[in-house]
Amino acid sequence: MTTADAPPAPESHTFEADVAKLLHLMVHSVYSDKDVFLRELISNAADACEKLRYEAIANPALLGDDPKPRITLLTDTENRRLTIQDNGIGMSRDEMIEALGTIARSGTKAFMERIQAAQGGEGAQLIGQFGVGFYSAFMVADRVDVVSRRAGSDEATIWSSDGKGSYTVAPIALDEAPARGTRVVLHLLEDAASYTERYRLERIVKEQSGHVPVPIAIIEKPGAEPQEVADGAALWAKPRSEITPEDYTDFYRSVAGQFDEPALTVHFRAEGRHEYTALAFVPGSTPFDLFDPDRHGRMKLYVKRVFITDEAEILPRYLRFVRGLVDSADLPLNVSREMIQESPLLAAIKKGVTSRILSELEKLVQNDAEAYTKVWEAFGPVLKEGLYEDFERRSTLLGLARFKTTASGGGWRSLKDYVGSLKESQTAIYYVTGTDLARLEASPQLEGFRARGIEVLLLPDAVDSFWVTAGIDYEGKPLKSVTQGAADLALIPLTEAKQELDTNATEAVARFIQSVKETLGASVADVRASERLTESAVCLVASETGMDRQLERLLARAGQLGSAAKPVLEINPRHDLVLALANLGDAEQPLREDAAHLLLDEARILDGELPGDAKAFSQRLTRVMRRGMP
Ligand code: ADP
Ligand code: MG
Repeated sequence: MTTADAPPAPESHTFEADVAKLLHLMVHSVYSDKDVFLRELISNAADACEKLRYEAIANPALLGDDPKPRITLLTDTENRRLTIQDNGIGMSRDEMIEALGTIARSGTKAFMERIQAAQGGEGAQLIGQFGVGFYSAFMVADRVDVVSRRAGSDEATIWSSDGKGSYTVAPIALDEAPARGTRVVLHLLEDAASYTERYRLERIVKEQSGHVPVPIAIIEKPGAEPQEVADGAALWAKPRSEITPEDYTDFYRSVAGQFDEPALTVHFRAEGRHEYTALAFVPGSTPFDLFDPDRHGRMKLYVKRVFITDEAEILPRYLRFVRGLVDSADLPLNVSREMIQESPLLAAIKKGVTSRILSELEKLVQNDAEAYTKVWEAFGPVLKEGLYEDFERRSTLLGLARFKTTASGGGWRSLKDYVGSLKESQTAIYYVTGTDLARLEASPQLEGFRARGIEVLLLPDAVDSFWVTAGIDYEGKPLKSVTQGAADLALIPLTEAKQELDTNATEAVARFIQSVKETLGASVADVRASERLTESAVCLVASETGMDRQLERLLARAGQLGSAAKPVLEINPRHDLVLALANLGDAEQPLREDAAHLLLDEARILDGELPGDAKAFSQRLTRVMRRGMP
């Protein structure tokens, strides 16, 4: 730009559609704690300083004559303005449009979906629990100007918005921009004027951001001396004895973007062959992006206090809910991010940190079972992924796993509990998989187990259908689906003696079963008498070699299965209806055939499926009901 030309007019852009909605939700929610905007802006400023520190390893010239990272808050009471300035990496014009004009991050998207699903008051509460990044500035400001100059660049840009749906970007003269980094100017709303009060700011910074690894100072009015309010010392490098629980909580909140208390804090220093420090937190509630399909971890990697990357996948995916960092003393600072992934040092760190987190969870089981139960309730479905992904730690994970069972009365049981109350002659750990607990508990397949007092694990999570196929056993007892194969229940006595059938009845039932088989033909793999049923007349099970029925359904839905295997129809030989059908005369063949089809459809419905042929089903049902009427 030459001085002779008039500067180009600011270009106007609109936000992606979601932003306006998010802003509206935030500003108009019953969200009481507006203070968090400051934590968000400070954490962005600190991230920017850390990014610069990293880029400067390869390119020290970026630091120029200003090598020390710093965050400065400038207050201007007269103009009701608060400025947050850093000397970090800064943003180019394109980076500003990309970073401040879109909400493309998957976490934010998931967040929006949850907010919209949870209507009204609950949505507002959710907002209060999670960080919403840069946009939180609009909770306290009716205009935000961001002036930024990227390290090493001789151009600066101003971004400006009232947060109502559009923003402008324009070049700005270098003498109006920071020499390097970003200046965020908040034009405060009337009711947010108190954010220009020094003591208030100082208190909020100490409370929320006292442990960000960059020093923070306040300048009370233009020209005044900066007053340091946080020293930027790395919390994790301090001895544990000098850190209070509140320090840990603050740090957790700034590193995890959560607003709650951590459920578990793991802080240790590994010495010996590899030296590193790890500070990791299990969040107190489920983060929004937990079920992202890409399942990325969020542990940061530092080398000698310098932030390197948060993409090093330090923990296995089934621990992706853990937030925190590892600071290595051994990795070379100038290693590229790509090389780090391959480093044997990193492999050793991964192993050490993973084992430590699992052993701390085991300790939590011992020391505070209730707290552990909360962890399991929040993250059990993710931890269970480890049962098939981490063969090496499978037995540890099996020990940590908790289940609802037919005997748990709504509570949680461990496999140890389960194996401790096996019935005599019981050789397997039985389970049933499905999609919701109430339906699982009502499965007809469970009747024979209940009647024998045999406990069954109720597995309602999608992941359950997978890990149970991993050939897992616990203390020598294999896991076995109640819907799979001929359950070997006959060996285990019923708690109440069942009524014995006389020879005539037994033969009649056998003939009936044979006729059902002929009628149903190819729609089932087999029809047989059941040991599983005590109350219902029928149920469907998989054949001995077949896949568990729930897994089969999941795969079929995902299009991963060419054609579903045929199920086996089991018939309860002692059921009133079955006995009555078995005793029908030869002339009643049409009724017997209708009944055979209806029994199969009934079993399908009990499994949460639809009748095979809805029209034929309704015709048969009509015929049979008509017969029952005078
Ligand atoms: P997050 O920090 O989780 O990425 P934010 O909404 O807080 O999300 O910020 C969005 C992006 O804007 C950041 O990822 C970063 O690229 C950019 N950004 C925000 N503030 C700054 C800053 N002070 N310096 C440099 N980049 C920034
Ligand atoms: Mg941020």
